[in-house]
Amino acid sequence: MKIYNTLTRKKEEFVPLKPGKVNIYLCGPTAYNYFHIGNARTFLFFDVVRNYFKYRGFQVTYVQNITDVDDKLIDQSIKEKIPVSDIAEKYIAAFFEDTNSLGILKADHYPHATKYIEEMVSLIKELEEKDYAYEVNGDVYFSINADKKYGILSGKKIEDLKAGARVEKNIQKKHPGDFTLWKRSKPGEPKWQSPWGEGRPGWHTECVVMSRKLLGETFDIHGGGIDLIFPHHENEIAQAQASTGSIHARYWMHGGYLNISGEKMSKSLDNFFLTRDVLKKYDAEAIRFFFLSKHYRSSIDYNEDLIKESSHAMKNLYSILKESDYLQYKNEDASYSEKHKKLKDQFIEAMEDDFNTAKAISVLFKIRNLLAHNKENELKQYAHLLVELGQVLGFFTKLEEKLETDLNQLSEELIQLLINYRQLFKKEQNWRMADKIRDDLKSLGIQLKDTPAGTDWETVK
Ligand code: AMP
Ligand code: ZN
Repeated sequence: MKIYNTLTRKKEEFVPLKPGKVNIYLCGPTAYNYFHIGNARTFLFFDVVRNYFKYRGFQVTYVQNITDVDDKLIDQSIKEKIPVSDIAEKYIAAFFEDTNSLGILKADHYPHATKYIEEMVSLIKELEEKDYAYEVNGDVYFSINADKKYGILSGKKIEDLKAGARVEKNIQKKHPGDFTLWKRSKPGEPKWQSPWGEGRPGWHTECVVMSRKLLGETFDIHGGGIDLIFPHHENEIAQAQASTGSIHARYWMHGGYLNISGEKMSKSLDNFFLTRDVLKKYDAEAIRFFFLSKHYRSSIDYNEDLIKESSHAMKNLYSILKESDYLQYKNEDASYSEKHKKLKDQFIEAMEDDFNTAKAISVLFKIRNLLAHNKENELKQYAHLLVELGQVLGFFTKLEEKLETDLNQLSEELIQLLINYRQLFKKEQNWRMADKIRDDLKSLGIQLKDTPAGTDWETVK
């Protein structure tokens, strides 16, 4: 299996630290707002990475951290006029709601930064003792000049950092590139006790501590979006190396941006769509398909026409499974022949080439076509294969629900149309026609329910 490692800038053979096991750490959300569809791209991709390792029989430990104390949370708490801890609670709950709606499976651990403050203080103390860190007026900084290997991940040079640094207001720092390990708290801000006074840890320290604690001093894969290469991951490596001499994670994987008109989607540029809003318009699987149709390291431009096309492609897969009566034999043994195993190998080959999900999807469609033209003897095997491989990419997770409700978008729209006509008949006091619409729909298995807010419907058997 080959993985592109940002650390070495090449595709490398993946060799797990312990045979059969893989430990993955993904930098998760900063809980100060609902996450946007760009963040979703990164979360979704690593969901697939985890699924794939599991599919291949690895014992996976997948950690996604949650940053629940940070300047951004403090600003948001002032904006919303509620305590920082309430901001965190609100947006962590929203994070779980939205990832669940996206069909992302749970990680094994979701460490919250505020639960590891003691360990962070110990690490900072250790760095100070080893002369990698210095304190000025209650703030503690990491001295990048003390780290001979600084820049190993991003390729940045310390000299260039100085030249390129913004006009530095912070005259406390020895070098403008030195980063904060501990920040003195202002009145009213969240604070913890430390040898340097009351304050809070820096973001880069959080992830080193939580990953080490849950996955060990060295682990297999550390992930995030490419915006995290510098400074976040560079600064994680700097601390880990200073502390243990190890580079922390063996493979550093970074996902490309979701752009909007060629620019990174981000909260600071105010060019984002919230995941929960996009989910109101498009199905989670259509969004997933849209992302996975491109390689994770390429950037993607947000494109609703392509999301709509992805939605059609997914419907196409569902309708072929429905036509082949998949639910009738879903629990039967698949018993693949050599021909089926070859297709499976093609899928695996695509995924093992640095997670080429676009190619993997093309294998799904190859199977779909064989399934469509093979009405008799091998139909079951192809259907089984399509579902088995599709699920690795996170599709078909609610298969029964989707196949049993025999409704596609168009029929939903037609039902709504009939409800509107019924409303018109009622207005004209044409009760006979209004009732006829209700009864005829019922005979098709669609039950109308009049509520004060309008008419709802549900399917009945
Ligand atoms: P944040 O909440 O800003 O810490 O971001 C959470 C994750 O989303 C990180 O791994 C980021 O690298 C990633 N991310 C942020 N913006 C984008 C984007 N436009 N496209 C893809 N990933 C992103
Ligand atoms: Zn992180």
